[in-house]
Amino acid sequence: MSQKTALITGITGQDGAYLAQLLLSQGYHVCGLVPRRSTSEVNLVRLEWLGITKEVELVDGDLLDLSGLVRIVQRIQPDEVFNLGAQSFVKTSWDQPILTGQVSGLGAVNVLEALRLIKPDARYYQASTSEMYGLIQEPLQSEKTPFYPRSPYAAAKLYAHWMTVNYRESFDMYACSGILFNHESPLRGLEFVTRKVTDGVARIKKGLETELRLGNIDAKRDWGHARDYVKAMWLMLQQDQADDYVIATGRTTTVRDMCRIAFDYAGLNMEEHLVIDPAFFRPAEVDILLGDASKARAQLGWEAETSLEDMIKEMVEADLERLS
Ligand code: NDP
Ligand code: GDP
Repeated sequence: MSQKTALITGITGQDGAYLAQLLLSQGYHVCGLVPRRSTSEVNLVRLEWLGITKEVELVDGDLLDLSGLVRIVQRIQPDEVFNLGAQSFVKTSWDQPILTGQVSGLGAVNVLEALRLIKPDARYYQASTSEMYGLIQEPLQSEKTPFYPRSPYAAAKLYAHWMTVNYRESFDMYACSGILFNHESPLRGLEFVTRKVTDGVARIKKGLETELRLGNIDAKRDWGHARDYVKAMWLMLQQDQADDYVIATGRTTTVRDMCRIAFDYAGLNMEEHLVIDPAFFRPAEVDILLGDASKARAQLGWEAETSLEDMIKEMVEADLERLS
């Protein structure tokens, strides 16, 4: 069989890097879309961490630029497209609601349009999110649970989600939406709470800081490992029919308890260092998320493999190593 080509938007992000690694191990030619900023230097930290920078082909392009996307699709003729690019930080989305809507919402439609025009038989993956459940309508969220977005980010992602469903139904395109619950790793951005905690714990352990400032530590999340979750993305594009799937662990934990795991692992007393800072509270909160991934388990054979404890340990260790 000839080599498959995959296009990943957001290849420089957490999931993009792990997904690129997975696809390379499967023999794919991997192209990654990288938006041009003020210099031609690309943020390669995550690809470097995984040692795969030289194995991927990076192409200049932006989710906001349909004509550029059309040209890229024309040139590389991808078999599979993973749309992971986004303004993905919920808190920032209140400060930049329009940019978030353009990149995380309309950006998906730009990719879908480029495919519809140039390569309609390409398989498309949309990075949807459990944030779409927001003010939860059912205690356990599945593909059938109604959505109630609570941030500009979630509203933008919900638009992209329904447009993915719409392109599948209107144009018979193989377009899937993966509704992924929070997933983390040593490659998670520092602004997200797990990485902020593991980096903070490592700094305190090294004597570089004395306190860690957090917002709402009563919030609960269903946290999994990004390395496990990118396998689900790939599996979704290998089925007979396109469909949407919830990807989650089925366990929910408070920010407080997640934080305690990190402090305990480093041999530190959380109470001596944790400070609650109103600056990190949000205009509207998603209090609890808990996913039901039974459809993915039954149809994709997918299951979360990494426990929260093991993941937090891996993240603390990586942050200690970075500081050494
Ligand atoms: P990251 O924030 O780590 O990565 C986002 C990527 O999008 C970066 O590579 C970024 O590039 C790129 N990007 C931003 N703006 C543009 C643009 N205008 N054009 C092209 N690319 C752009 O996110 P994650 O890897 O954590 O998540 C991947 C996807 O999954 C995102 O869409 C996210 O919203 C979604 N998701 C994530 C979850 C999670 O828990 N991690 C949960 C559910 C969904 P640059 O670095 O150059 O800015
Ligand atoms: P999100 O679920 O995509 O918003 O992922 P985050 O990791 O950004 O936040 C997860 C939860 O942690 C949310 O309920 C936040 O309100 C809560 N949280 C508490 N303190 C902080 C903090 O200092 N930073 C972040 N990012 N989140 C925090």
